[in-house]
Amino acid sequence: MASTPAPLLDIEDAVAGYGDRDVLQGLTLQVSPGEIYALLGANGAGKTTTISLLLGFVRARAGRVRVGGIDPAADVTGVRRQIAYIPENVALYEHLSARENLAYLLDLAGQAAKDSAIREALSSAGLDTTAHDRRVAGFSKGMRQKVAIALALARQVPALLLDEPTSGLDPQASAEFSRLLGQLRTRGVAVLMVTHDLLGAADVADRIGFLLAGRMVEEVAASGPDRFDVRALHRHYAGAVA
Ligand code: ATP
Repeated sequence: MASTPAPLLDIEDAVAGYGDRDVLQGLTLQVSPGEIYALLGANGAGKTTTISLLLGFVRARAGRVRVGGIDPAADVTGVRRQIAYIPENVALYEHLSARENLAYLLDLAGQAAKDSAIREALSSAGLDTTAHDRRVAGFSKGMRQKVAIALALARQVPALLLDEPTSGLDPQASAEFSRLLGQLRTRGVAVLMVTHDLLGAADVADRIGFLLAGRMVEEVAASGPDRFDVRALHRHYAGAVA
C-alpha cells in the first residue's frame, strides 16, 4: 500500500498574532508534497497571517510549525530556502527584462543559473519567448506571475505559497494559471494558495480549507467519495463564512 508522504507544510494547533492579539487561534493545516491546498476565509480571518507564520514573519505563541521539518522560529533562512512566495502583486525590477529579473533574483537567492536554464524556466512558466527580453514595466499581472513561477521552478523549491493569485486575472489567464499549478503538483511541489476565488480553487485544488476567525472550520477533498460540491460550498461560504 502506498504511504502518504509526510506533510511539507505542517501547522498544528498554532496560536499566533500581533502584539497581544491572537489572530490564529489553534490553527491546524497540513499540505503534502504534490498537493494543492486552497485556503479560503472572510477578510481578516487570518489567511495572510498563516502565510506569514510559515515564512517566519510571525511567530507561534503555542502549537507547532514546520516547513520540511524545520521550525521557522529556529531557522528562518533554512525555511525560506524551501519556499517560493508569490504575493498578490509580484514585485519585479521594472527597468529589467524578464530574463534579467530572473537572473538577478536567482543570484540574490544564491542560486545563479545559466542563461539556458533561465530561458527554460521562463518558457516552462508559460511566458512567450518574445517576452523574455522585454522590460517587465509593461507586463500584465498574469505575465508577472509567470516570472515569479519561473523563479520558483528555477529554484526547485519544494513549497510554493501564493496570496490571492487569481484576483484581477481574466478567465483565460486564470485557467492558464491553474494549468501551471497543475504542473508544479506533478513536480511534487506542496502548494498553499490563499484566495477568495472559490470557483478557481475548486478548479485546481486537491483540498479546500475554510478559515473562520483563525480556526479551520471545514476541510473538503477534491477527489474520491468526499469530493466537494461547488454549489453547496458556495452556499456555505457565502452564508456562514464570508
Ligand atoms: P484578507 O482577506 O482581508 O486579506 P486575511 O484573512 O488574509 O484577510 P490577515 O491579513 O491574516 O487576514 O489579518 C488577520 C487580522 O490580523 C486582521 O484583523 C488584521 O487587521 C490583523 N493584522 C494583519 N496584519 C497585521 C499587522 N502587521 N499588525 C497588526 N494586525 C495585523
